[in-house]
Amino acid sequence: MTRKEFLLLSAAGSAALANAQQGEIRPRTPADDGFTDTPMEPDMPWHVHDPNRPHPKQITPASTPGGPPSDAIVLFDGKDLSKWYHRGRGATAGKQVDAGWKVGDGYFEVARGFGDLLTREKFGDVQLHIEWSSPTAIDANSQGRGNSGVLLMTRYEIQVLDMWDDPTYADGSAGAIYGQWPPLVSPTRRPGEWNAYDIVFEAPQFNGDQLVKPAFFTVFYNGVMVHNRKQSLGPMVYRQVAHYIPQPAEDSLMLQDHNSNPVRYRNIWIRRLAGYDVPEKR
Ligand code: MG
Repeated sequence: MTRKEFLLLSAAGSAALANAQQGEIRPRTPADDGFTDTPMEPDMPWHVHDPNRPHPKQITPASTPGGPPSDAIVLFDGKDLSKWYHRGRGATAGKQVDAGWKVGDGYFEVARGFGDLLTREKFGDVQLHIEWSSPTAIDANSQGRGNSGVLLMTRYEIQVLDMWDDPTYADGSAGAIYGQWPPLVSPTRRPGEWNAYDIVFEAPQFNGDQLVKPAFFTVFYNGVMVHNRKQSLGPMVYRQVAHYIPQPAEDSLMLQDHNSNPVRYRNIWIRRLAGYDVPEKR
């Protein structure tokens, strides 16, 4: 480019910038909305860049990383456990009992005598954000140390465990699809520090008693991908091979009371997942 060409280009750029600053932009044309003279997408009712294809719903993202977007259901905002319950025992068997785990300053903690914690609302396919912290008082090893768990539909567990400088069997690691698949790496933090799980869970589908689609997990652990749409073999079991059992299409999210290890949780939100505008073939 000659110096003259450069100066002409700069002048044109400055003029365009000045016009843009004055709000003089090119008027919209039909092409701005898309095209109907383009080829059809394979096996879809849409042209490439189809103007009639439904637009994505506008939502507002969180103002801080890890926070709930506007379409999330906030399950714990740091204040109370009103969205949760325990299963009754003895005289209250078969009833929902108000949550009794200890609520602290912006977090809650597993407390003895109440059992697992379940959401009152039931879910199927979801995106879940949850943060957890292991107890700083160390009084056990391996599966006895800071054990809890995030169980989708009360059945499909992503393990929560204090893994700091204390190994356990691989498929029982924090971030494992418990008893089935270890996390691809272990990006765990020290006891007392906060870990975050971002989980995408696809619920299993049944036709009567017949499994027609298994469950899948995608998990980010402290921002690191540890499961990439990994198929679950079935509900969590101990010292057995997991297998599917017919179940409802939706069920509660559950946090595990494992010998009441005082694991803490905070900032929990969930989004129901919608499919694409054309069903996927899988
Ligand atoms: Mg567990």
